[in-house]
Amino acid sequence: MQESAALLYEHEVSTEEPPSTWGRVPATAPAPAPARHLQDLASLPTWEDWHWQMRQRLRTLADLKKVLPAVEVPVDLEKAATAFPMAITPYYASLIRDADFRDPVFRMSVPDAAELWDSPFLADDPLEEEHDMPVPGLVHRYGDRALLVSTSRCAMYCRHCTRKRVAGVKESCLSGAQLEEAIAYLREHPEIHDVIISGGDPFTMPTAGLERILAAIRSVPTVDIIRIGTRTPVTLPMRITPELTRMIRKYHPVWVNTHFNHPNEITPRAAQACAQLVDAGIPMGNQTVLLRGINDNPQTMEQLCRGLVRMRVRPYYLFQCDLVRGVEHFRTPLSRGIEIMEYLRGRLSGLAIPVFVVDAPGGGGKIPVLPNYVVSTSPTHTVLRNFEGMLVSYPEPFAPEHRAASGAPGQPAAPTVWDLSAGKAKTIRPERVQRHDRREKMQVIPGQAGAAGSAMLAAMSCPDAEFS
Ligand SMILES: *Cc1c(COP(=O)(O)O)cnc(C)c1O
Ligand code: SF4
Repeated sequence: MQESAALLYEHEVSTEEPPSTWGRVPATAPAPAPARHLQDLASLPTWEDWHWQMRQRLRTLADLKKVLPAVEVPVDLEKAATAFPMAITPYYASLIRDADFRDPVFRMSVPDAAELWDSPFLADDPLEEEHDMPVPGLVHRYGDRALLVSTSRCAMYCRHCTRKRVAGVKESCLSGAQLEEAIAYLREHPEIHDVIISGGDPFTMPTAGLERILAAIRSVPTVDIIRIGTRTPVTLPMRITPELTRMIRKYHPVWVNTHFNHPNEITPRAAQACAQLVDAGIPMGNQTVLLRGINDNPQTMEQLCRGLVRMRVRPYYLFQCDLVRGVEHFRTPLSRGIEIMEYLRGRLSGLAIPVFVVDAPGGGGKIPVLPNYVVSTSPTHTVLRNFEGMLVSYPEPFAPEHRAASGAPGQPAAPTVWDLSAGKAKTIRPERVQRHDRREKMQVIPGQAGAAGSAMLAAMSCPDAEFS
């Protein structure tokens, strides 16, 4: 599944701005046509049948044109829709309010020629998941947990997907033999206590197929919790059937993490799906991806997080958009995420605030990124900043062993940040830094130009006449 995927995306790499298909519509364009046609579909008797929804997914631009006649489909879009598969359930398409790129649901699901643009930093597998796969489909990166890629199929193919190299490229599931291999690995690694069933979207599998995987994982006694990552509560809420929840609860503790990105996705139907899962004793979390033009402002994020907790879905992670080929046009500066976190803290219930993380390129894993709240530290006090910007002094424990300055017994105390702010020390240096070693060898005297510096200045001096 993974080997063949790399070959599909051999389009040109350039450093120019992404040529967005939809971004060409000027902000002052007349109000777009409302997507009424789709809302009418919701009265069909088959609407609630998730198999029907899967069969009726919009797979081509021609399908899209049929349900959104007002959309102008430019020719360059065909290439993007071919490079990265497209699928939109009728339900998800019905959330498109305006048949226009300014609509967040439209942008997350309809291809854009900008996907063919690659900045030099992008890769098919920037998280190097395939380097941490001891057996096909099982990613073992963190000591106590592993992630199983169970299927490559999703109800809707998110244009910003981090596994664009897998999702929808060939709609297939983990084979019985692969599952056995993964289970054997879990048995050999009793340190793995948490298994994440991911994909693709595991809930696109038949219930029996998913049960086969859950039962197999549950047969490993050292696995404590099973997590399922699915976007169906957002893109195909009718998938959450009583039959599915009855099956899942046999394998408790099972947690479900879903993926709402925008308040427009929080509908009564989606809320009903989440309630069904939570009522079955399945705690739910949400992983949002920070996306330019979709949710990259504090107010949208606030609305989203408030909507999630109302459905008993706990905002878990806010992800910086990964460096995946085909998603450059969705990326925001890291500072935007920090700004959003700054805004949320103090304004929202702590339960509604996710952790902002960057999944480090090169397989470094998730790194939490926070606004700076610790201003300075000393053995006696730590200076903190609150959400309003007020600076507070926090007294450290009074016990002498906490208050004693660091440094081995009998050694002079090492300077602290406090000494720096009091002017009692000039620097605090890490122990071994090559640059400092080089300076020592050169016998540089701080504050004075070294021999090499003086020589350089001498070489540069030239007669004033040349400038007159
Ligand atoms: C995100 C991720 C996990 C789970 O990480 P948590 O921080 O525990 O949610 C596990 N394995 C891989 C490979 C992941 O990318
Ligand atoms: S549902 Fe998840 S795996 Fe599927 S396309 Fe969206 S982000 Fe990717």
